[in-house]
Amino acid sequence: RLYNEVQDLKGNIRVYCRIRPFLPGQSKKQTIMEYIGENGELVIVNSFKQGKDSRRLFRFNKVFGPTSTQEEVFMDTQPLIRSVLDGYNVCIFAYGQTGSGKTYTMSGPNIMSEEDWGVNYRALNDLFQISQSRKSSIAYEVAVQMVEIYNEQVRDLLSINGPQRRLGIWNTTQPNGLAVPEASIHPVQSTADVLELMNIGLMNRAVGATALNERSSRSHSILTVHVRGTDLETDVVLRGNLHLVDLAGSERVGRSEATGDRLREAQHINKSLSALGDVIFALAQKSPHVPYRNSKLTQVLQTSLGGQAKTLMFVQLNPDIDSYSETISTLKFAERVS
Ligand code: ADP
Ligand code: MG
Repeated sequence: RLYNEVQDLKGNIRVYCRIRPFLPGQSKKQTIMEYIGENGELVIVNSFKQGKDSRRLFRFNKVFGPTSTQEEVFMDTQPLIRSVLDGYNVCIFAYGQTGSGKTYTMSGPNIMSEEDWGVNYRALNDLFQISQSRKSSIAYEVAVQMVEIYNEQVRDLLSINGPQRRLGIWNTTQPNGLAVPEASIHPVQSTADVLELMNIGLMNRAVGATALNERSSRSHSILTVHVRGTDLETDVVLRGNLHLVDLAGSERVGRSEATGDRLREAQHINKSLSALGDVIFALAQKSPHVPYRNSKLTQVLQTSLGGQAKTLMFVQLNPDIDSYSETISTLKFAERVS
């Protein structure tokens, strides 16, 4: 083992909850957050309800409140990311309704400011730092892919040549470990390389969309980091993959609210998020049958979900009472997979 900081992780699935603060300019509404325990307890309160139904307790591996910083969140994520250097596959998801802070947690609000960096920049930065420090004994190669899944179609977000084709997903257990081999793969050596690529990714995500936010809230984006470490003495090679997934917004869209394209998008999102929930649930139950084939999302991530792979889900919540019913449905999803 090159690194062994993950013994403390009970099982291979962890669920962290993060509640975003009220935003500046947002008139202070009533909060649903009542209590956050050291051991991952969260009590939410609905002040419009009376009696014992008004309070509910949920348990997570960890709860981050509105004042938690990007650095604090990363501290509890870092051991998982380092296990990629031991040859583990790791998936990190952000789940929640649009506006709950998924992109904030994964990418951060402003990639130009290091303090604001989310999990994905910090993860790559960390991997580069470790690989530098062990340069004399292990040669690490790091490469990234970034795809988007929109309406059950996979597209390369880092393609430099024009309109994006639909890409196929290979059956798993390919020797090179690439689930989407047609997506361009980019060797990276520094955080600067990564920032440059992410800018291309963001631009490609905007192509053909009326508004960037609209499209990005209805598609899943998957940043995959491939790490290959060669022990220079023994020539032993270890490969690990890290998938950093900013999921589509989980808000339910009713038939009455949407028609045509919007309804189709919503159906695709529902289908893929429930397929993801079913897969994680099956894994948590140690079920012999894991239904990977039900969505593109679970197919792309198949080799990194289950087996020795490690999964972390960030469950993102809005603090305000207006989001109460979406928040409950997010928490129910989390309860099922944790
Ligand atoms: P999502 O990706 O789930 O739609 P965003 O990450 O875009 O949500 O967050 C919505 C808004 O809330 C953004 O303006 C973002 O900067 C802000 N925000 C989210 N989480 C936090 C946080 N932990 N601290 C401060 N602002 C946050
Ligand atoms: Mg977002």
